[in-house]
Amino acid sequence: MEKRVVIGELASPEYMRRVKDEAQPILIPIGALEQHGPHMSMNPDVLLPGAVAVAVAQQIGALVAPAIAYGYKSQQKSGGGNHLCGTTSLDGHTLSSTVKDILKEFARHGARKICLINGHFENSMFVVEGIDLAIRELRWEGIHDFQVVMLSYWDFVNEDTIARIYPEGFPGWAVEHGGVLETSLMLHLHPHLVDMSCVPTHAAASFPPYDVFPAIPEWTPASGCLSSAAAASAEKGALLFDVCVQGISRALSEAYDARVNASRD
Ligand code: ZN
Ligand code: MN
Repeated sequence: MEKRVVIGELASPEYMRRVKDEAQPILIPIGALEQHGPHMSMNPDVLLPGAVAVAVAQQIGALVAPAIAYGYKSQQKSGGGNHLCGTTSLDGHTLSSTVKDILKEFARHGARKICLINGHFENSMFVVEGIDLAIRELRWEGIHDFQVVMLSYWDFVNEDTIARIYPEGFPGWAVEHGGVLETSLMLHLHPHLVDMSCVPTHAAASFPPYDVFPAIPEWTPASGCLSSAAAASAEKGALLFDVCVQGISRALSEAYDARVNASRD
C-alpha cells in the first residue's frame, strides 16, 4: 500500500511525527480558478500541480498540503485576461499574505523544508513575495533554517520532450494557456474534464511587445485559449507528467541536500 501523503487525511500525531521526527518536506500546490477555453474545465492550474505534488511526495517521502486554489489575476498575454467570465482571482497582496500565513503555520509545526509547486504563470512573483516575507519574519523569531523551494512544473519539461510533444514547432509557454501541454496532462489525469469535440483550432495568439490596461478584449482569441490543443493526447500527457515528476523529485532532493551540506560547513 502506498503511504498516505495528503496532510488533510492524516491524524495529527502521524502528521507531527512525519514533520518533526522524519523532517519530511511539505509540498504546497498553488493554482488558479481560470477559464481554459470551451473544451476544458476551469481548474487545470490547480489539479495539475496537485497531481504532480502527490506523485513527487510518494517518490521522495514528502507531504502534500491542501492546494491554494485561487491565484493572481489572469494576464491577457499568458492567460487570456482577467476580464473573462469564470476567471476568479486574488489581488497580489492577498496572495502574498496567504502564502506567508501558510508558510509560517507550517514553520510553527516544526516543518523546515517547503516547496511551492505552481500551476498558474501569473502567481510567480506574488508567491516569491510571500516566501520572502515569511522567511524575514521567521528570522525575527529566531528561526534561521527554514528553506523554501518555488517552482513551476512546466519548467521541468526538457528540450527532448518539447521536441516530441511539439513536432510542428513549440509556440512558447506564454501562449500554452489551454493548449497542448495543459490539455494533454488533463487527458492523462482527468479525461472526464476535457471534451476534445469542442477544442479550438485557431492559430497561436500573437501580441505586441507591450500590455494595455484595461485589457483590449479583441486581443484575446474568442475561444479564451491562446493556442490550439488539437494535437493534445493522453499519451503526450503521460510523457509530460513523468518528465515533470522525475525532474521535480530530483530537484528537491538536490536543493534540500545542498542546504544540509551548507549547514555542515
Ligand atoms: Zn492553465
Ligand atoms: Mn493559468
